[in-house]
Amino acid sequence: MSDNITKKIMLYFPECETESPIVYHLVKDYDLMINIFRAKVTPEEEGYLVLDITGSDGNIHQATEWLQSLGIIVNETDKGVKWDQNRCVQCGSCVPHCPTGALSIPDRSTMEIRFESNKCIECLSCIKVCPYEAVTSIF
Ligand code: SF4
Ligand code: SF4
Repeated sequence: MSDNITKKIMLYFPECETESPIVYHLVKDYDLMINIFRAKVTPEEEGYLVLDITGSDGNIHQATEWLQSLGIIVNETDKGVKWDQNRCVQCGSCVPHCPTGALSIPDRSTMEIRFESNKCIECLSCIKVCPYEAVTSIF
């Protein structure tokens, strides 16, 4: 379907919803394709999902309203991984560990790091290797 769009969203959901089959309903009831990047779902604790959803704009909108009606916080704009330009010393250590090129050195003459959050799949590899805590996760 050519009018499908893909959105990256984060869902924070409260303790009471952690065992609900959220993804099942998104697929079955709203005809969405789901690609989960990260998840933390622990019974009796708050949980989160970071996922791509693909489907029609209308279905995504309805699904978002349904999630919010359950008390789930839907974050469509923010990203889980943050790069702090002020902490980054441009050492380049993270670049070879980034599988998608979200962290890159576009200009070898300046060796400055670029972070493109739309390419980030939240694998967290950069966080493990950055010695300056310039990359962090909000989770
Ligand atoms: S979390 Fe993974 S994909 Fe995102 S910038 Fe870091 S290494 Fe790259
Ligand atoms: S490893 Fe950390 S300090 Fe080094 S370039 Fe990457 S984000 Fe910047």
